[in-house]
Amino acid sequence: MKNWEKNIRKVVPYTPGEQPNQPDMIKLNTNENPYPPAPGVEKALKALDTDTLRLYPDPKAEILVKAIASYYNLKEEQVFVGVGSDDVIAMCFLTFFNSEKPILFPDITYSFYDVWADLFKIPYKRPALNDQFHIRKEDYVQPNGGIIFPNPNAPTGVSMPLAEIEEILINNRDVIVMIDEAYVDFGTESALSLIDKYDNLLVIQTFSKSRSLAGMRIGYAMGNPELIKYLNDVKYSFNSYTMNRTALAAGVASVNDREYFEETCRKIVETREWTKTELRKLGFSFGDSKANFIFAAHSECPAKELFEALRNEHIYVRYFAKPRIDNHLRITIGTDEEMQKLIAFLTGYLKNRENR
Ligand SMILES: *Cc1c(COP(=O)(O)O)cnc(C)c1O
Repeated sequence: MKNWEKNIRKVVPYTPGEQPNQPDMIKLNTNENPYPPAPGVEKALKALDTDTLRLYPDPKAEILVKAIASYYNLKEEQVFVGVGSDDVIAMCFLTFFNSEKPILFPDITYSFYDVWADLFKIPYKRPALNDQFHIRKEDYVQPNGGIIFPNPNAPTGVSMPLAEIEEILINNRDVIVMIDEAYVDFGTESALSLIDKYDNLLVIQTFSKSRSLAGMRIGYAMGNPELIKYLNDVKYSFNSYTMNRTALAAGVASVNDREYFEETCRKIVETREWTKTELRKLGFSFGDSKANFIFAAHSECPAKELFEALRNEHIYVRYFAKPRIDNHLRITIGTDEEMQKLIAFLTGYLKNRENR
């Protein structure tokens, strides 16, 4: 080992889903939205004056903060924006998780949490989901340095009722509790209604899934003004200009089109429910997903085999070679046509396999 190596911060990085690029592919592996962003986004980007790119963007990202605040009937001081919710959550870890006690998140959850905890040297404990892949609220009544989990959880898609979230909050008044609502718009009740009641609650959302803007990188946190101030203090100690002019313009245009947003979410929910029925007929089982994906296991065929067979057809889904979930596929909800093609392929594949 070289002498300088001992002072290096070594991390095992998060592995994002692959981004293949084939003209005929059906991409159901990273929970992107199959529909284009709101029409206003294209207009806003076309109207962008490139000469303004000489100038730094607004460090406060005020037009976007205002748009989000007004959409949710909040004060501007209750909203923080960042470069995707990954950036927002990383900033939250740095700001709020500074206890000697371990933070808590489920054993099966978004696989970025343990990466950030390791990066920032935050101790953590991972209470196990039950056999139905539900978060057990009782596990979050123990000494801790903070709590984070997605609702609905990823990659299971399973939601926690708001009453249980409130119970967790009541039992944890002395630490920050973060609810990662990346998929909340596909049919889960948001914890946003609780931020005035619990000053230790942060609700984190993203434009990447329900607003079709994964490529633009916009995320936000909502909570008590004091929490938002601490978050901004850390941001300004790190990078003042997180939001570029393009992202600000696109974000505002997206938020301003409530009707398009609600319509695309509704379509995805409909397609999801259709896909559930078809998958069940084929012998798959899964929890009752409220997200834009289904986390499914087949009764006969190993997930890894299906993953590879689908991949050969240029149908991409996500497979995690991890304990407890290595016989599941996470299938993003695409358009009706894409899901019909998926089901048609699976039907043929499983039938041939039976006759082998
Ligand atoms: C997709 C996702 C995020 C991050 O999304 P961004 O693209 O960074 O906004 C955060 N949490 C969960 C659970 C996700 O699935």
